[in-house]
Amino acid sequence: MLTKTVSMPKLISRQASRILDYIYPAQCQLCQCSLTHGRHLCECCKKSLGYTKAPFCKLCGACYDGDITSDFSCPNCHDLELDFEFARAPLHSDNDSRALLHDYKYLRQIHLSAALGDLINIGLDDPRFEPYLNGGTLIPVPLHPSRMRKRKFNQSEELAIQLQKRTGLEASNALKRIRNTATQTRFSRSKRLENLRGAFGLKARYKKHVQGKRIILVDDVFTTGSTANECSKVLLNHEAKSVAVLTLIRG
Ligand SMILES: [Zn+2]
Ligand SMILES: [Zn+2]
Repeated sequence: MLTKTVSMPKLISRQASRILDYIYPAQCQLCQCSLTHGRHLCECCKKSLGYTKAPFCKLCGACYDGDITSDFSCPNCHDLELDFEFARAPLHSDNDSRALLHDYKYLRQIHLSAALGDLINIGLDDPRFEPYLNGGTLIPVPLHPSRMRKRKFNQSEELAIQLQKRTGLEASNALKRIRNTATQTRFSRSKRLENLRGAFGLKARYKKHVQGKRIILVDDVFTTGSTANECSKVLLNHEAKSVAVLTLIRG
């Protein structure tokens, strides 16, 4: 049985989305061609996006060339102790995927929510998500309140809402960011881990969304996995059954 509890506010009402449709007429976000159906990505661009495919690391989701059928040691994560079960992302990091995410996240082009929701949803085709799709909880990586005030929306939360619509799973803002950490992009992996230690916590009132549950942790990009791992630690410390990570892009 799938559960359905909406515990996150919808960012935009139906009316507001109609206004947005007017402001942003149907045009492909990537090639700017006019669209006859679908709203923000043409079929051609959708097809030519860089989708991740096997073989990939069973833990961090990094893709490799060639035919690898047996287990192999991934240079990205073989020396790391990761708390989540596995991480998956449907898209590689390339010019197109980065452009889409940049427009969404920093230019606040929130009309892209549905198109990006369709894309991240592809990641759930991985059969390892099956047990998670049976009563699991979608939990987005949170933004610190001060960053949220600046950016106005949390792209990971929006992606979780899109996944909730498509799966009927419960989605919950159960995690909170306690410390506003410095931007991670220029940090090495060990520096990122240090920077993030103790940065996340659980909102007490949402404990029941975590205890005994399989959690799909939702984020926009997976780079070194340090953010996903810190969040997983908090969830497992609060008795989550297991955590799997789903991101739009594998950085
Ligand atoms: Zn296009
Ligand atoms: Zn790996």
